[in-house]
Amino acid sequence: MSAQAKNCKYIFVLGGVMSGVGKGVVTASIGRMFKNRGYNVSAIKIDPYINLDAGTMNPLEHGEVFVTEDRDETDQDVGNYERFLDTDILSLNYMTTGRVYMSVIEKERAMQYKGKCVQVVPHIPLEVIGRIKAAAKKADADVMVIEVGGTVGEYENILFLEAARMMKLDNPDDVAFVLVSFLPIPGHLGEMKTKPTQHAARALNNSGIQPDFIVARGRNELDKPRREKLAFFCWLRSKEHVISAPDVKNIYEIPALFEKQKFSALLGERLKLNFKSGKSHRWDNFVNRMNAADKKVKIAVVGKYFGTGDYTLADSYISVIEAVKHASWANGAQPEMTWIDSEEFEKHPQKIKELCGFSALIVPGGFGSRGIEGIISAIKFARENKIPYLGLCYGMQLATIEFARNVLGLKNANSVEIDAKTHEPIIHINPKQANNVALNRYGGTMRLGAYNCTLTPDTKTAELYKTKKISERHRHRYEFNNVYRKKMESAGMKVAGVNPENDLVEIVEITDHPFFVGTQFHPEFKSRPLSPHPLFMGMVKAAIARNV
Ligand code: GLN
Repeated sequence: MSAQAKNCKYIFVLGGVMSGVGKGVVTASIGRMFKNRGYNVSAIKIDPYINLDAGTMNPLEHGEVFVTEDRDETDQDVGNYERFLDTDILSLNYMTTGRVYMSVIEKERAMQYKGKCVQVVPHIPLEVIGRIKAAAKKADADVMVIEVGGTVGEYENILFLEAARMMKLDNPDDVAFVLVSFLPIPGHLGEMKTKPTQHAARALNNSGIQPDFIVARGRNELDKPRREKLAFFCWLRSKEHVISAPDVKNIYEIPALFEKQKFSALLGERLKLNFKSGKSHRWDNFVNRMNAADKKVKIAVVGKYFGTGDYTLADSYISVIEAVKHASWANGAQPEMTWIDSEEFEKHPQKIKELCGFSALIVPGGFGSRGIEGIISAIKFARENKIPYLGLCYGMQLATIEFARNVLGLKNANSVEIDAKTHEPIIHINPKQANNVALNRYGGTMRLGAYNCTLTPDTKTAELYKTKKISERHRHRYEFNNVYRKKMESAGMKVAGVNPENDLVEIVEITDHPFFVGTQFHPEFKSRPLSPHPLFMGMVKAAIARNV
């Protein structure tokens, strides 16, 4: 096992009954409660699939790929942890079955098991424990909250549960288990049922784990009889160890909802934690500000594949949605976001005028050529009609293409991602990346994670960031082609930020416009409720000023 962290307490969050009930938000909220009390908190996400990272998975099926500072492509829950804990979560805090097996196999090849037979048990759980402790040490955590993906009773996560069980056996006072379960209300009965949760607790018992707490997710608040029933049948210490977690309007209210039920004090007692009863009110103040916001901003998000239903959409672009919310609340506004499939503009060009009814337009990241012409016409409309515009990654690249086509008159301007043989490659690819694509080396090879950026003085961007040097997170393969830089600048599209190490264009803006900014990076990954992102702030301010 690797080095021991400083007397860290470990809270495992496990799922029962079904997925999609908000285990990630519960994990993040537990962490926030301890953070509010002044502890150093970090969080870990364990994903049971074989993929080494989330980068090769379809975001419409699996949710957003969240990029960490240190270049990892992780699960969207890691974004929730960063937003709730207001801290960077590193690659070490993310593991998958594939990643765990890969390191065990690499160690075996390097003779690190010293001639032993390497076995699924105990070597895989031991590797998991080593990673958990290394992450706690690196974060210098007092409390580490660990979310195990999937639900109990599944074949896939059994070895992670075994690791948790082994940790508990070693240090019973340092490990607690929280089962997040779902209580359905069948339509024909109209009452909340506890039985599936009882079965989930039994399934967990079969893995040698007794839950210390049950977080009862459901549409409504849990009543007293059901609370008692769950505590009794699931062998909890008292009914207070059942925490009710009804649906809420806003996820950021959950830490307070938990605190009302004394969740952090009970967890602290269970873990024999030197409990700090004091509390910082920064989070509460933010929640109050959020609830008091009464202006409205109407944001249109234009992209492809938006026709797949709200559920997947919200998951695929969660960081963009949250960044818009953070900036809106900080400006006293509630955002109303409308998702527009760009292919609609290709099929019905007159529809583009509908964009006039919005306070601002966002084009988020994306890949491939579907729906691109529709997006470009939306960007043109926003530029010409002075609608505030924020382009994120692909949204920046397409804004430069639009400008080259319609202002510089380079009708064939394109990205080589869309047209490999274009005569005007405004967006091109460097030889290293071209080689990756040619050899099918897709996993983990994009330009990823934090890169420096130097801002150009006297730009709107520099004014918003209030500093000269920034660092932002990336996830893309293609880049702005510097051959076109001078021409674009002299026609009014200014380069507002450049990566100094490689002279890459990172930000463009149009000065003669209320707000028109495109970033090669993804600012949404660094927006936090307690510190909204400067560029989203700029966009929302301009959106409010437009007053539609
Ligand atoms: N497809 C573009 C690229 O790879 C943009 C990627 C993105 O928006 N994340 O460069």
